[in-house]
Amino acid sequence: MNSKKNDVSCLLLESRKILCIQPHPDDMEIGAGGTIAMLSGKGAEITCLTVTDGSAGSRSPSDDPDQLAERRRIEAEAGASILGVNEMIWLDFTDGGYLPLEAVRGEITRAIRLVRPDTLMVCDPWLQYEAHSDHIRTGLAAAEAGFLSGLPNFHPADLQDNIQPHTVELIAFYYTSRPNTLIDVTSTWSLKIEAISCHKSQFSAGQGFDYITRLTEHALKLGEKSGCKYTEAFKVLSRSQLHIFEAAELE
Ligand SMILES: [Zn+2]
Repeated sequence: MNSKKNDVSCLLLESRKILCIQPHPDDMEIGAGGTIAMLSGKGAEITCLTVTDGSAGSRSPSDDPDQLAERRRIEAEAGASILGVNEMIWLDFTDGGYLPLEAVRGEITRAIRLVRPDTLMVCDPWLQYEAHSDHIRTGLAAAEAGFLSGLPNFHPADLQDNIQPHTVELIAFYYTSRPNTLIDVTSTWSLKIEAISCHKSQFSAGQGFDYITRLTEHALKLGEKSGCKYTEAFKVLSRSQLHIFEAAELE
């Protein structure tokens, strides 16, 4: 079931070309894995762009950051392949709260102009109580790039490299506290969990929080609201709703 609260939210499952942006190598699977698997199963083309190298994702002082980044890239490629992702782009900014907003925005703008998606997916930078600035800055950079990438004078260096402006139609924010679109991902839930389980550096026993249990409980809770078993939630907005649109919060 796809809850149809506004006109644009129901367009998410009609997307044909998606650029899914994640701050770290596992966020796509956690935030949107069931929907990504569903879209790829319907023949949509999926590109996944990872902003940081994931080198800060360990609680063990003996882990070498470069080796961890390499391991996480292999894990992410395995997870993405389970979800049916067609292409991976790596920006390799340093993980751990050091993202330079304008540089990330420029790289995402260039990726949008090269991939030319109809839909962008990214974590919601306006999630209340989000403490990780990699998530906030990645979400902001992508939202701004998605809003302005059709303008030739926005990051104009791309044009000198013969990369043309491109207008994105839809932005779908995962990790949101203000969803307007609930996607029934019961049919792809096992693929999502399989893909998350590829990230052994993050989700093996003793590593970090038990995200899998928590996100399963959250998906079941959302499912109760929408009348299905497992659900993923998104805030879906059109490009024009991303600027001086007072009603966006209510959409
Ligand atoms: Zn993350």
